[in-house]
Amino acid sequence: MNVIIFGPPGAGKGTQALKIVKKFDLFQVSTGDLLREQVKNKTDIGKAIENIISKGDFATDDIVNELIKNIVFNPKKKNKLIFDGYPRSLSQAKNLEKLMQKSNQKIDYIFFLNVMRDTIIERIEKRKIIEKRADDNLDTILKRYETYMETTQPVLNFYSKNPNFYEIDGDKEMNEISAKIEQILTV
Ligand code: AMP
Repeated sequence: MNVIIFGPPGAGKGTQALKIVKKFDLFQVSTGDLLREQVKNKTDIGKAIENIISKGDFATDDIVNELIKNIVFNPKKKNKLIFDGYPRSLSQAKNLEKLMQKSNQKIDYIFFLNVMRDTIIERIEKRKIIEKRADDNLDTILKRYETYMETTQPVLNFYSKNPNFYEIDGDKEMNEISAKIEQILTV
């Protein structure tokens, strides 16, 4: 099965994706991690996006679309994908549809982790201490939240009509959220 975990920064997408990866033997596709890897390895893409990411803006659709293409077409990962942080714009969502069709796959579950702004700020402040991410400071968090609201809202409208779309209360405790997701995935 292929899954999308969708929601604002700090919604717990990465944490939930990891749990599902372990339990259902899937591969996590985190565009945030892929982009950070490019920055770390000082590739051309990395140099081009370093400032963009640290300010809380989005990398261009072309860059992220290219990064996920190879993963979608990797036969070892076929029908075992969990997307975390992708798609984040309508153009990315349409691109993913195309890639799925071309590779003979489909998205089986879409989870939207709906979280209040205050919960997000609280969680990212905690994560800052543990993960030391360059984009986890209050100004950037608020900027990332705004960018999410502007650019990602249309993605929500795009997917919410889908019969396999599930809205999850992301303000709940992490274990409660994962129990809910697992319950849906095991039906
Ligand atoms: P994340 O780890 O998902 O919170 O992503 C961290 C940052 O990477 C975001 O704030 C964006 O700057 C960038 N990023 C991650 N995924 C995408 C995407 N699908 N499209 C554009 N930019 C992205």
